[in-house]
Amino acid sequence: MKAKVFLVEDEESIITLVKYNLEQEGYKVITNSNGEEALRDIKEETPDLILLDWMLPDLSGIEICKALKKDKKSKDFPIIMLTAKGEEQDKVQALNAGADDYITKPFGYAELKARIHALLRRSKPNVVDDTVIYEDIKIDRLQRKVFRGDQEIDLGPTEYRLLDFFIKNPKRVYSREQLLQNVWPDNINVESRTVDVHIRRLRQAININNQKEFIRTVRSAGYALD
Ligand code: CA
Repeated sequence: MKAKVFLVEDEESIITLVKYNLEQEGYKVITNSNGEEALRDIKEETPDLILLDWMLPDLSGIEICKALKKDKKSKDFPIIMLTAKGEEQDKVQALNAGADDYITKPFGYAELKARIHALLRRSKPNVVDDTVIYEDIKIDRLQRKVFRGDQEIDLGPTEYRLLDFFIKNPKRVYSREQLLQNVWPDNINVESRTVDVHIRRLRQAININNQKEFIRTVRSAGYALD
């Protein structure tokens, strides 16, 4: 499972181009053309990256950008602004509002892809790198292997996806529903207590020799890796 991209855009042709191409490469893409709704959904979905159109029917991309940066829940989400405004002062305004990068319309998919990848490498190496390390846990994604220190850990496929998901955003608290949405993407009939079962298995597997506990239970909220 690759990175999750949230696209806020009202132009059908761009939505189609971006969604189709990113999904071909394994990205999960969520779109909304309504600024107010997008603002609400982004906090719920916790995307790895946001593509944000400047000119929307209700809010402007600049307003959305500022609102996201103001909220503790969403201030660290990387943002690429998409806009037909190509003047230097426009770029400055976007960057001042908190955008991390800026693409002028019309753009080609190759440029968009390169910028998405560059920004993810910079802001979220744990999402795109082949080898991810968090304290003494290491995930080798090419070989699908997990290590704790030098010791290889045997994980089932669901436990592996759970750990890989947590490690992308350490310390962030995920509700059971968010975990279901992200780790069981095709399985809409899974009950939320299934999450607890797999969390317990994951804990048992990574907690070799009674080392430090990594998965924290956050009362009435969910779970976090920290
Ligand atoms: Ca627009």
